[in-house]
Amino acid sequence: MNERTAPDPGLLSINTATLRGRWNLREILDGCARHGIKGVSPWRDQVRAMGLKEAAAKVREHGFAVTGYCRGGMFPGATEAERLAARDDNRRAVDEALELGSQCLVLVVGGLPKGSKDIAGARAQVRDGIGELLDYARPAGMPLAIEPLHPMYAADRACVNTTAHANDLCDELGDDGLGIALDVYHIWWDPDILPQIARAGAKRILAFHICDWLVPTRDVLLDRGMMGDGVIDIPALRDAVEAQGYRGFHEVEIFSAEDWWKRPPDEVIATCVERHRSCC
Ligand code: ZN
Repeated sequence: MNERTAPDPGLLSINTATLRGRWNLREILDGCARHGIKGVSPWRDQVRAMGLKEAAAKVREHGFAVTGYCRGGMFPGATEAERLAARDDNRRAVDEALELGSQCLVLVVGGLPKGSKDIAGARAQVRDGIGELLDYARPAGMPLAIEPLHPMYAADRACVNTTAHANDLCDELGDDGLGIALDVYHIWWDPDILPQIARAGAKRILAFHICDWLVPTRDVLLDRGMMGDGVIDIPALRDAVEAQGYRGFHEVEIFSAEDWWKRPPDEVIATCVERHRSCC
């Protein structure tokens, strides 16, 4: 068996969705600090509920790295008004990410507009939407991280479903200020994933998200597993991104309405720390 080094515990980041079941953002940030966690990745609704200024101050107080801000995107619209609303909202997301000192703004790019069956058209809108947002984000210095989502979300969340497609968008729109968020939950099944990680290289890999794929999965959105409880070869994927020179955080992102969100959050964090060491 290949001997792997356990990951540096200092590279563990917690996506705040993981702890949202029982804690608000203030409790999550204080809880992560108590457990010695060095990185966090907050969601916009949580930041809005706490207040952007207060959240940014709390992040600075604890000295967290903000390994991503979740999320921008949702570019396609059925009407021009919808597209413009998405554009404006994405610009606000960039501003908020800057205020929080985030390393990137994660893009969940959106699926089909309401009533549409035109996935090629949706993908064209995504390309144009990212291009337009780059004009705003690049001069501001906020990198955009395209997160390819598992194809089961193509209709309603993201019509960029492979790392190859995300790489194509980076090729077309330019690497400057644009990259990819690789989430093991979305990429583990892809037979082309290792060549596509190599194609992305350290320059494009802006974030690495971890959790596990449970068998059976009882809910396509809210039944993600803790690392080690499912079928994803997480160490192999970590090896692949780190072989490219990626030295960023490993961000735990678990949506789990019936399991982890119901557990005491201190137990969840302690489990993340242990599984990061033993299963990643
Ligand atoms: Zn993710």
